[in-house]
Amino acid sequence: MTLHLPGGATSTGTGVERAVAAMVSGKPVVLADDRTARANGFLVMAAETVTTGSAAFFVRHSSGLLCVALPGAECDRLDLPAMTGAANDPDGLAACVTVDAASGISTGISAHDRARTVALLANPESSEADFIRPGHVIPVRAAEGGVFRRDGVAEAAADLARAAGRRPVALFAALDSALTPTELAHGAELDAFARAHGLVTVSISDVIAHRLSTEPLVSRKVTARLPLQAGVTRTVGYHGLVDGAEHLALVVGRPRDGEDVPVHIHLECLTGDVFGSLRCECRYRLDRALATITAEGTGVVVYLRPSGTAGHRGSAVGRFDTGRMLSSVAAHILRDLGVRSVQLLTDNVGHRAALQDRGLPTRIHGLAVAAIS
Ligand SMILES: [Zn+2]
Repeated sequence: MTLHLPGGATSTGTGVERAVAAMVSGKPVVLADDRTARANGFLVMAAETVTTGSAAFFVRHSSGLLCVALPGAECDRLDLPAMTGAANDPDGLAACVTVDAASGISTGISAHDRARTVALLANPESSEADFIRPGHVIPVRAAEGGVFRRDGVAEAAADLARAAGRRPVALFAALDSALTPTELAHGAELDAFARAHGLVTVSISDVIAHRLSTEPLVSRKVTARLPLQAGVTRTVGYHGLVDGAEHLALVVGRPRDGEDVPVHIHLECLTGDVFGSLRCECRYRLDRALATITAEGTGVVVYLRPSGTAGHRGSAVGRFDTGRMLSSVAAHILRDLGVRSVQLLTDNVGHRAALQDRGLPTRIHGLAVAAIS
């Protein structure tokens, strides 16, 4: 069985920083939904900066459905239950009952009226009584944890608003195509649209990469001396700040001033690590890495224990790329331990990319086990 920890971040984050700056100043940005090859586009802005003019811009260039991503706690506080009892949206969009502002509007559908409704949804002073239901704006419950929990448009939009120092409440709408008016805008048309209107384009992947590279993912909790069959290690425990997972680093020696440190990144596998299951190579790789590191008198085993079910894990699960998150967690741990460059004891493309993206030059150790797909 193979262990697959795919890709590291490739974005420099520059695009996200420009998008965040735009949202700080109350401008919309174009968000490409690059989860699919078609990559439809969305207009996004921080909801608390919406004006009648910007709402009119959204209506003019979109399909006309204006959505507002909100944290679940805000949906609960404002009494915005799910639109349907048993949602079956294939995209998993958690739409709530539609709303209009309870006062200060006429029919509710004009840009003026919807701007007022959107602004009220973003206002911490608002209460459930400030809205009538149904209405012409669709609140959407954004997953807690944002794109780290679900790589959706609502989550990316809310994450961008939060990064801009705004409330994590974001107006978004699917961009219509001007070239093919019967379809949504996608691909190269998004860049052309953004250029024509002086907007920044980012993708959901950009938002994920930016968060992975800029946010602290772990905090160091405890250090203990741990004698093993292979030799004495220093064990350092880390707490995952995103998922609450508990990870370990087994450190041997004083890793060579942080340069060229032999490293094995291991994903917890109950059946392999504990019982020596022969269905996978986890135990073999772990034993071999510990033996190599002990023989060299220096090195680190990063033992990743993702939250969720135990047992051997194959490729990443769920909508968010768990493997990519774990590779970034490993990079954070190694940097915390003072490692500055790495010799990997397993040849894993995803790990190499993630470590290098985090500024850790990485090469493959001479005794590395065969490449993992
Ligand atoms: Zn295994």
